[in-house]
Amino acid sequence: MREIIQQDDPILYQLSEPVTADTDENLLFDLVNDMTYYVKNGAFDKGCAGLSAVQLGVPICLIVVAYGAEQLALINPRIIATDGKTSPSHEACMSLFHATQYYDVRRYKIVKVSATRFDNKQPITIKARDLLGRTLQHEIDHLAGITIRNKK
Ligand SMILES: [Zn+2]
Repeated sequence: MREIIQQDDPILYQLSEPVTADTDENLLFDLVNDMTYYVKNGAFDKGCAGLSAVQLGVPICLIVVAYGAEQLALINPRIIATDGKTSPSHEACMSLFHATQYYDVRRYKIVKVSATRFDNKQPITIKARDLLGRTLQHEIDHLAGITIRNKK
């Protein structure tokens, strides 16, 4: 089981590489297992709505988010559309002070995200708002080396 990387590790602030046909399938499988565990069970006595692979020390474009009662693993997720309207809310991050600090973060209210599902390797487009919309934006930020602490 990989540990969740904390705020002072420079790996959190680097760009994640896209997942390609050359990416080690066993590595992906291991990461998805660990990330799914954290999203399902939380960590540091906190619930966890999403996690990115870079937070487990592997900077590749892979995230897992809570999706209804399931945990959905997404490869190379990207935002393809927004409603253009942002609103502020409090967020914490598993990689910042063990999710004990809250930050005010503006996010789009509605986002459309395209990705490849890890489970069946099929493309998926998700239109999301509320917690899922915010979580997707938070995790996709991680892939660009952006945390809620250094977000402009
Ligand atoms: Zn985070």
